[in-house]
Amino acid sequence: MRVWERVRRALLPDRCICCGTVLQQGTVCEACRRDLPRATGTNPVFCGRFCKRAVAPFYYKDHIRAAARRLKYKNSMPAVAFFAEEMAHEVRTGLPGIRFDLVTNVPMEAAQLRRRGYNPAARLARESAKCLGLPWIETLRQVRRTGRQHTLPEGLRAANVTDAYAVAGADVRGKTVLLADDILTTGSTLEECAKMLQAAGATQVYGVCAARTLLRRRRKRGR
Ligand SMILES: [Zn+2]
Repeated sequence: MRVWERVRRALLPDRCICCGTVLQQGTVCEACRRDLPRATGTNPVFCGRFCKRAVAPFYYKDHIRAAARRLKYKNSMPAVAFFAEEMAHEVRTGLPGIRFDLVTNVPMEAAQLRRRGYNPAARLARESAKCLGLPWIETLRQVRRTGRQHTLPEGLRAANVTDAYAVAGADVRGKTVLLADDILTTGSTLEECAKMLQAAGATQVYGVCAARTLLRRRRKRGR
């Protein structure tokens, strides 16, 4: 190990992204890894009219909730790398045989992006794309404020995001797109973004998220 690396580790040791335990190497400690709430058996977690199928490697609970908070609010690159690898694996196994042309992400409101300085969904998309050997292209932007989608009652979420997004500055005509987001709840956001991508000419849109909430079961097609 190089000197500077030893110094960095002494000053800023690697920690488990779930529980914060100091680690010699890796991103998740053994104890947390054994207990990760995997959602693999429940995929696809969403099937929509525009977003054909979406998958997620985890449930949003326990250790994954803690890791997702580091991803969303603490600017944790180890958390991004961990989730992106798991998402890429889920795409390979849960959406097999699909030839994606690009990976893109759910956008963030401009004001929120300025405040936070980064969009977790964009980072997940960029790193998952690397794992999958695909280009990452930001294709969408948010054109209308939606407020905090996850604080709304479920019945209002689809209406809240209607016409909130637009494809800007990217040619998606004829493309099969993988759309990434951080946490999936009802799938309304994925569905609305997928609708816009298809309106701009994308052939097919599939989704991948870092984790899915336990709020309710999969939505029925077309709802
Ligand atoms: Zn841990």
